[in-house]
Amino acid sequence: MILTLTLNPSVDISYVIEDFQLDTVNRVSNIDKTAGEKGLNVTRVLNQLNESVIASGLIGGQLGEFIEQQLEDSHIKHSFFKIKDVTRNCIAILHQGKQTEILEKGPTISKKEGQNFLEHVDELIRQTKVVVISGSLPKGLNNNYYLKIIEKCHDEQVPLILDSSGETLVSSLKGLHKPTVIKPNIDELYQLLDRPVDESIDGLKQAVNDSLFKDIEWVIVSLGAKGMFAKHHNQYYKVNIPSIKVLNPVGSGDSTVAGIASALLNNESDDELLKKANTLGMLNAQESRTGYVNIKNYDELYHQIELLEV
Ligand code: ADP
Repeated sequence: MILTLTLNPSVDISYVIEDFQLDTVNRVSNIDKTAGEKGLNVTRVLNQLNESVIASGLIGGQLGEFIEQQLEDSHIKHSFFKIKDVTRNCIAILHQGKQTEILEKGPTISKKEGQNFLEHVDELIRQTKVVVISGSLPKGLNNNYYLKIIEKCHDEQVPLILDSSGETLVSSLKGLHKPTVIKPNIDELYQLLDRPVDESIDGLKQAVNDSLFKDIEWVIVSLGAKGMFAKHHNQYYKVNIPSIKVLNPVGSGDSTVAGIASALLNNESDDELLKKANTLGMLNAQESRTGYVNIKNYDELYHQIELLEV
């Protein structure tokens, strides 16, 4: 089983208001509400792959219950930890061909809740074979909070994929033990290294050899339409992907992470892991819904991917 951790989930609301106006009343009839945040996208894609997955994280109030209900409606197992403060909404208004977003910061976690959640996760890690941590930390938890989960996975010898960014990711890489996989996109890589990265093979090799990434088994840099660059131990790969019709690439990175988790669970080869990750990223980009893939098109895309040892 794969455990996904989403510490600051949201109920994402999408309002379609073609003629959106400021400083007046806008009425909306086309509304979509979904359980959101990166970890839940990963969960949904794993479920579509028919992998056994359990979602956990921190939720509170009625929006937290909405998230649990949505997962149950999709027959996805969950074991969230309940907090006193309430889960957030994130709103996207689709108007005049544009997207305006209003993102709540979300709840504040008390010290005690933070400690108790670690015990809750400890129990779950013992029952799982792969752990995925996605996204940002909620208020109240220190930037090094994920380090404690990384240590627990190390003790249990459970591989861990960490897909986060900024200070939280930097702090999570400074511990004695490391995540098994990180998957920054190219912008996140710039941000981590605090300098522009030359996107040639040599430039990418130099970037992933930065001391920040020392002892991380897999450093996978996703490059959008340009595929992926990866370092596994001392082996480097470039993945070239076909050109596809893209509807909505949001969540492609999360689909990629689902593919990596599935490949680790099934002890697949480097070739299979990287091709699976890219196939799922592309399948997500071909759909309008975030965190949704049409598995029927899987084989056709998979066989068009080129993997080069570089
Ligand atoms: P993130 O969502 O984390 O920014 P990327 O945009 O790099 O991640 O996308 C992850 C993967 O999804 C890519 O490696 C690629 O396989 C696929 N993908 C994303 N955008 C496109 C695109 N425009 N065309 C084809 N594939 C894409």
